[in-house]
Amino acid sequence: MTPTQVHKFGGTSVLNADRVLNAARILADARSEGSTAIVGVTSALGGITDELIRACETARTGDTNAATAAAAAMQHRHAEAFDQIAAAGAVPPNEAAETRTAIDQLFGDLRELLHGTALLRELTPRTRDRVLATGEKAAARLLALALRGLGVPALALDADDFLRTTDDFGEADPLSYTDCPGVANAITPLLTEGVTPIVTGFCGRASDGATTTFGRGGSDFTATIIGAALRASEVTIWTDVPGVFSADPRVVRTACVLSALHFREASEMSYYGAKVLHPRTVIPIAGLGIPVRIRSSLEPALAGTLVSRDAAVAGETVKAVTAVRRQAIIAVEGNGMAGVPGIAGRVFSTLASMRISVTMISQASSESSVCFAVPEADAAAADAALRAEFGPEIEDGTIEAVRVRTGVGLVAVVGLGMAHTPGVAARVFTAVAESRINVLAIAQGSSELNITLGVDDGEIDRALVAIHDACIAGLAPASASPPR
Ligand code: ADP
Ligand code: MG
Repeated sequence: MTPTQVHKFGGTSVLNADRVLNAARILADARSEGSTAIVGVTSALGGITDELIRACETARTGDTNAATAAAAAMQHRHAEAFDQIAAAGAVPPNEAAETRTAIDQLFGDLRELLHGTALLRELTPRTRDRVLATGEKAAARLLALALRGLGVPALALDADDFLRTTDDFGEADPLSYTDCPGVANAITPLLTEGVTPIVTGFCGRASDGATTTFGRGGSDFTATIIGAALRASEVTIWTDVPGVFSADPRVVRTACVLSALHFREASEMSYYGAKVLHPRTVIPIAGLGIPVRIRSSLEPALAGTLVSRDAAVAGETVKAVTAVRRQAIIAVEGNGMAGVPGIAGRVFSTLASMRISVTMISQASSESSVCFAVPEADAAAADAALRAEFGPEIEDGTIEAVRVRTGVGLVAVVGLGMAHTPGVAARVFTAVAESRINVLAIAQGSSELNITLGVDDGEIDRALVAIHDACIAGLAPASASPPR
């Protein structure tokens, strides 16, 4: 069999019937260009996940009417898209009607879930995941119909039927990154028959069969989990921008498309806030060396960004600058801490036991403080847990203060080439200082792949522009030629 390719479409790439038809053409073209083994992965139609979240919140307040009205409006939007897609393609009407029935069934289930939630005025993470996956299920059926309309055998697959995950509703992980149970068994037989499966992104199956989700943007992760399990030759992420930019293009106007990124650079960027990729996207495929290409479904002639094992482009020291917002910096301080072994260890195991992820660590060499960042939403819980853990040390004065500062952003400067280039840090800090931005904390990964600065939330955008202008602007824009 020809090598498998996985193609993932984000919400804007399946925004409406026209875009779904466009996505279907991209899949059909990929098939005709040689690889018959094509797997599609789709997000919900643009905006639907947000609407589902709002409907959940409405239902939780007990407002049954408003929640079911929201479900009806979403159903209507899909029905309209269905009509247009069915009319555009060559699928016999009785076959197309099956898709229409399946979509109506999904929204019937949705109404029941929201109704139940409204009655109980309670929304469990489990129910929420089940509700949210509705968007991907409906989109997969529309995209499969559009592809069949082009004469390509296609079938919608619900990942919560087979893709096995942990039971962490809302933030699940696959049971294996590289050989996720269920994936190959569900997909390979279809590929062998020449059928193109269209798999729902974002969701998977818990141990008891319930629906889980991977968190916002999780369809990227689905694509690489599937790509890894099938040992695909390449994963393409189709989105609304022509690749990964050197900074968020909405904030830094001079940002340019990067033609190539190393797995570690892409991973660092997505972890530190580059929304274009889900933070865990790179994990399943990096060890296997399966490249990921980020391309625009609106401009499919462009080459996009290739994320791979060998992408240190000469001359590019700093590749990108990204930011995560709404963080808090916590400092555990005390002159008595110096020389007391194990304090840092206890700090981080306390946070780990509460499943609070630490987004940055910076320790002064004096050992009289431990300073780190956590998401702002976890700051109060982290503070309370640390005060409980270190009660005796606070009592006897070994630790003088646990300080929490909210409203912080982390700005990350990323590039593998930084490790071999002296003076990069100086350039970064000069740029920030010249813009009169106060730096609250600094961390440099030991790999020198990343320098992270904590700044006030309100100064993030200025910091991004200043660092980008000083360290990146002026790089050549990505080539406009197609990839192969
Ligand atoms: P999709 O629905 O296709 O998954 P997303 O909205 O999740 O699309 O991600 C694409 C968006 O990410 C872009 O429209 C852009 O505004 C934003 N973005 C933020 N940082 C970057 C970056 N460094 N490079 C490219 N896009 C970025
Ligand atoms: Mg996304």
